Amino acid sequence: MGDRAAHLQWAAARLAEWIHPLTVSSLHETAPVDMPAEAGAFLNAAATGPTDLTPQALLSVLQAIERERGRQRPFRNAPRTLDLDLILYGDTVMETAGLTLPHPRFRDRAFVLAPLAEVAPSLVDPVTGLSVAALWQRLTRTP
Ligand code: ADP
Ligand code: MG
Repeated sequence: MGDRAAHLQWAAARLAEWIHPLTVSSLHETAPVDMPAEAGAFLNAAATGPTDLTPQALLSVLQAIERERGRQRPFRNAPRTLDLDLILYGDTVMETAGLTLPHPRFRDRAFVLAPLAEVAPSLVDPVTGLSVAALWQRLTRTP
């Protein structure tokens, strides 16, 4: 919702305070997935880089940045100003109430893999052992 590119630029600037160097992909416009077409097109990007934050601390930072852009969660998959998800954290595999790593649905989502393949093609998914480039290839090959 709102000025989507401005939300993403804000997020990149704030993330750069915690992740440096931060590499940010181009912006990819995609039709809504798992929500009605009336939700309108989404703007997606991926960013990568090293951080001293633990996975949980990084998720807290992501959620704080979402709140700075007025993110609300009235219901599941509600329209949003900004959604920041943690996709991969090194080779960490974990499943807690608030955080699952790697992100449980990223392997099936072109709107994640396309921008991620731009900035981090050789990152390896610790669950499948496949690189981001290989996951992206596999997804685009699937009929
Ligand atoms: P979604 O991202 O699925 O559209 P939300 O942003 O509302 O929806 O996230 C719902 C919950 O997912 C958050 O409260 C968060 O604790 C949890 N979560 C679990 N794993 C992750 C992850 N890897 N990245 C981001 N959020 C996660
Ligand atoms: Mg989210």
